[in-house]
Amino acid sequence: MSTPADSKVSDPYRLPKNIKPVHYSLLVRTDLDALEFQGRVAIELDVLEETSTVSLNVAKLDIDHVTLLWGENTTEIKEQHLDEDLERLTLKTGKPLSKGRAHLVISFRGPLGDQIKGKVSMTGYYRSQTEIDGKKMNYSLTQFAPTDTRKAFPCWDEPALKATFDIIMVSREGTVNLSNMPVAFEVPLSRISDQAGDSTEELALGLASLKMEGSEAGWKLTRFQTSPIMSTYLVAYANGPFEYVEDYSTSPLTGKVRPVRVYGTKDVIHQAKFALDVNTKCLSIYESVFDIEFPIPKLDVLVAHDFESGAMENWGLIVGRTTAYLIDEKSAITLKKRIAGVATHEVAHQWFGNITTMEWWDVLYLNEGFATLMGELVILDKLFPEWGCRMSFINDHLERALALDAQRSSHPIEVPCDDAKKLHMIFDALSYSKAGAVLRMLSEFVTEEKFLKGVSLYLKKHLYSNARTVDLWNGVSEATGQDVASIMHEWINNVGFPVLKVTETSDGITVRQERYLETGDVKEDENQTLWKVPLNILKVDKSGQSVVDRSILLTERESTYPVDTSKPYKLNAGTSGVYRVLYPPERVKLLGRQAADPNSPFAVTDRMGLISDVMVLAKSGLCRTSDGLALINELRGEAEYLVWQSIADRLRGVLEVWWEMTDEVRSNMQAFIQSLFVPLVEKYGYDSRESDTVDGRQLRTLAINEAANSETPTVVEELRSRFKALVERNDYSHILPDIQTSTFVCGVRSGGKEEWETAKKVFLNPPSPSMRRSALDAMTASKDPEIIEIALNFMMNELKAGDVTFFAMGLNRNRFARRRAYEFFKENFDTLDKRFEGSFAWPYVIKLTLNGFSTKDDLEDVQAFFETKDTTNYSMPVEQALDAIRSNVKWFNHSNDDLVAWLKQWAESQGTSK
Ligand SMILES: [Zn+2]
Repeated sequence: MSTPADSKVSDPYRLPKNIKPVHYSLLVRTDLDALEFQGRVAIELDVLEETSTVSLNVAKLDIDHVTLLWGENTTEIKEQHLDEDLERLTLKTGKPLSKGRAHLVISFRGPLGDQIKGKVSMTGYYRSQTEIDGKKMNYSLTQFAPTDTRKAFPCWDEPALKATFDIIMVSREGTVNLSNMPVAFEVPLSRISDQAGDSTEELALGLASLKMEGSEAGWKLTRFQTSPIMSTYLVAYANGPFEYVEDYSTSPLTGKVRPVRVYGTKDVIHQAKFALDVNTKCLSIYESVFDIEFPIPKLDVLVAHDFESGAMENWGLIVGRTTAYLIDEKSAITLKKRIAGVATHEVAHQWFGNITTMEWWDVLYLNEGFATLMGELVILDKLFPEWGCRMSFINDHLERALALDAQRSSHPIEVPCDDAKKLHMIFDALSYSKAGAVLRMLSEFVTEEKFLKGVSLYLKKHLYSNARTVDLWNGVSEATGQDVASIMHEWINNVGFPVLKVTETSDGITVRQERYLETGDVKEDENQTLWKVPLNILKVDKSGQSVVDRSILLTERESTYPVDTSKPYKLNAGTSGVYRVLYPPERVKLLGRQAADPNSPFAVTDRMGLISDVMVLAKSGLCRTSDGLALINELRGEAEYLVWQSIADRLRGVLEVWWEMTDEVRSNMQAFIQSLFVPLVEKYGYDSRESDTVDGRQLRTLAINEAANSETPTVVEELRSRFKALVERNDYSHILPDIQTSTFVCGVRSGGKEEWETAKKVFLNPPSPSMRRSALDAMTASKDPEIIEIALNFMMNELKAGDVTFFAMGLNRNRFARRRAYEFFKENFDTLDKRFEGSFAWPYVIKLTLNGFSTKDDLEDVQAFFETKDTTNYSMPVEQALDAIRSNVKWFNHSNDDLVAWLKQWAESQGTSK
């Protein structure tokens, strides 16, 4: 490679706009034994203005040969320069290329192994592995989003530079080749010349470049159909000993029948039936909702053992990790929900993202927020109405979003990010959950029917092209007649969200909006935004029925509304707003009483929102923590699972911050938690029953988990003995799906080395993916310092990047391990950083390890530690963790006396005070 004298680039993050790719012919030969691939890509280019420079993306590939053709002639390449840092190959031509068509042909090779320069890599074209009948089996797959297509083949690797793709794979016979499109033909390599057609010449050229050195026997060639116009990050292919399960989906628009398949290796494929059903059913629902036929003649999912994120929406070939797609029929509902949620999320992208794609990565939230809303609420609710997904969205996404966005270090949903290498930091709860929650708020405000109509208009207007946020708002505006861009502006472009402060007179309420920070110390300059807030005021009419006024938008700092305050009322009906509401203390008490009433005017979603608002606002000091505990105490007769989940989440939040409380306080806190959950354990028992409802099964899981975590002796003993059967006799029969994780965790927590080793054994050789995750959680749950040390070393030396987040989460949750995990993290930081840098997991690991601390000393220690580090690539998680600690410290300081006194008083009233 030579270095041109003039190698300066005008924009380090974006390719020059003088040339556009139109079509790629890609040939890839995969060698699963040698763990390497080689290939040849011929790219048809549209030269938009005369130029002697051609720039495209290449990373970590060895380039064998480059040819540039203009018309019939080969153009001399004077200089060729690969900038490894910018991941860009620049070619200088002898004579300038004039406007028109050109062809660039590059042959290249690269490693398939999971080690690129000593780092674990699950990006680009890489190798995964499994064990079948005691034999290790390799297979290969791609993970390109956001910017790793360039590691697999040279390309114009930006979402707006769309092209069509012809993909040809060469592989060993006996393996299966998969790609975005269906197979056009497949032949043994030795008989390729029999394959007539106009592709023969191009194929021959391609195969010649592979230098197979005569060893064609035992190899085959698979040619896939030409793809629609698409972005490079959505290209996918895979090769390996795959099997599949299959169903068919009939298009409600055209009647066309498409095969829907889930592929995986032999050891796991029998667990793919549920995901297959969900994919098959939701495909036709999406076609109806968007009123656009699915553009690809098939939909596949490949389930992979080594995959870093949950799943990836490659067009026509979704790839996901085993825990995201595999499940036993008997599994717990929470697990089924998660699997179905991932499946429907990825299928939503097949339209929203794949047909119409974001212009650049800074509007990633539009993709992810939308898929979150559709996948985990709208479509999931159509498929499984009994699951209550419309309501659980509040705990799963809205609360997550509000928690992160209540920190000073938060960022607007639409965040400028030119540097693709920093993108992994914005794949966070704001891009997925806040964006999803804001879209849900809009959808409720304009009605879901009109919202979806607007989305369909938007997609139809931008078919096979790219879009910005405003294009979506225009679509929804057209469907609703509302000025959606203006309503949404602050929610999308400004950081944070408001707390609405309510004051009352006899005939009205005054509502004032202020920016909310969980540290409770908003400064004047941080409090400038005026959001357009749908108030959704719930009132009770003359006949005692609840009525909700959905038309009111608070657009000023403060406004007054007529409300008869002698009757029940509540803001944010249905908890669809992305904000908190602060009521006067007397009203909170009244709301609690009204919510606990069996004929309550407030729905499940209202009760969930109420509990969260009071407990969260207590954190910032806007109300008292004891008011929140009193509200929970008032609601102890609650029947609905989701309200109990809110209660459990909030009490865990208290334990999280008061994790080093005195024995006396802990004893009172545990007694309080036990008083709430043990009656539920008694009601629902441990074993599944014929008569179980969906809600009942979930309540059983939750109640047993909370009772075990608060060390209820009878519950601990029951779970311990169930786990013991596994430890002693390899007997799984007492570990039931609904209480699987609790049984594993409690078994290890109350056990010793033998129990930990059992969990490890299950983790390494799991009978099901969910068992693997339960075992992983259990491996972080020991109280024994010696075992915690073993667990930490296991994380360091044996755990894959895809699992490390869950491991760090478990260790942080374990109060016996939290300090040691942090010390270990500091001692090994540089090694960990090298191992996981650039992975999706690393920012989470950093945050999870740090954010549980709640003393000033710990805050200073964490700050001091990072002062010596270059935090450029993980500044956001560090800032978020520091913010979390700051607010923990404040909450503890202003509420400790209040909390301790309330618990003592409660315990005395029960006669259980210690
Ligand atoms: Zn997604």
